Amino acid sequence: MRTRRAALAVTAVSLVLSLAACGQSSEGGSKDEGKSGGDSTVGIAMPTKSSERWIADGSNIEAQFKKLGYKTNLQYGEDDVAQQVNQIENMITKGVDVLVIAAIDGRALSDVLQQAADKNIKVISYDRLILGTKNVDYYASFDNEKVGVLQATYLLEKLGLADGSKKGPFNIELFAGSPDDNNTRYFFDGAMKTLQPYIDKKQLVVQSGQTKLEQVTTLRWDGGTAQKRMDNLLTGSYSSKSVDAVLSPYDGISIGILSALKSGGYGTSKKPYPLVTGQDAEVASVKSIIAGGQTMTVYKDTRALAQQAVQMADAVLKDKKPEVNDEKTYNNEVKVVPAYLLNPVSVDKTNYQKELVDSGYLKASDLK
Ligand code: BGC
Repeated sequence: MRTRRAALAVTAVSLVLSLAACGQSSEGGSKDEGKSGGDSTVGIAMPTKSSERWIADGSNIEAQFKKLGYKTNLQYGEDDVAQQVNQIENMITKGVDVLVIAAIDGRALSDVLQQAADKNIKVISYDRLILGTKNVDYYASFDNEKVGVLQATYLLEKLGLADGSKKGPFNIELFAGSPDDNNTRYFFDGAMKTLQPYIDKKQLVVQSGQTKLEQVTTLRWDGGTAQKRMDNLLTGSYSSKSVDAVLSPYDGISIGILSALKSGGYGTSKKPYPLVTGQDAEVASVKSIIAGGQTMTVYKDTRALAQQAVQMADAVLKDKKPEVNDEKTYNNEVKVVPAYLLNPVSVDKTNYQKELVDSGYLKASDLK
């Protein structure tokens, strides 16, 4: 796992340099134009470098703040909750003016955010909602429920169930993200509200019987953990049956699932891979989609997300109200956090060129 992660990190770094470059395109022009950061410093806490998207997020956020003249302090918690708490504590001690946080564990930050509040440091919850504290001011994310709806709808369409051209029954297995990430249940609920009517009609059958969120989560979104679970599902429920579709919430998990399927004899003309969903448009997964492994991914433009977080932080530092477009969905159990939600996009072999390459999100050469 470590080696795979290290290799991933290297690919990710080169990818991100190109992503960050996109977000920085006008730098080097008239330098002070539009600068408003003054002496302010932004603390940016990201969860991990083991996945491309977070490296891209960190670089994009940092670049966009710098463009406005802010100083930045960017830290990665490497999926270690205590380490992330420490990093945020250090940022507070060093005197940052605002925090942008993508939490590893959405419930683990109450104490440290109280310290931030005591120093009047505002907090932007980035991508993942921080739970159980009043000390979170704004939330920038994607429509997370829609991510699950897109994944499930894609499966129903490709199986032929959506338009009624096929009746099934088809075998499906379900995977969800990390139980400590608030997004996990939004992705899963969106997918399940779409799939459930077909499960009820027995047009979709979960042979393992594992349909509850707590049975299908994947701690820290780890691909190796998902691979083991898929191995067990194949041995336990599919010795004499084939799996037709796998709901996977994230590309790194999908790659693990595909490895297990490959070991289980899938990926041949006699036994093709089932449909496998994903999320984040990571390079390895887009390559797999092109090669006929993974079937789809959900693309979330992290450049646009960074932009939202930056406008939020910039506004709160100037005592202005940031732009939001949702003031009801994201209740963190203490309050409804005003949010700006972006639109996720379903991507497969047919539209990756337009959505990912033509938009400049990925370089064609990264996909060779
Ligand atoms: C993000 C996803 C990502 C996952 C794993 C979630 O919180 O919203 O985009 O796939 O974390 O990193």
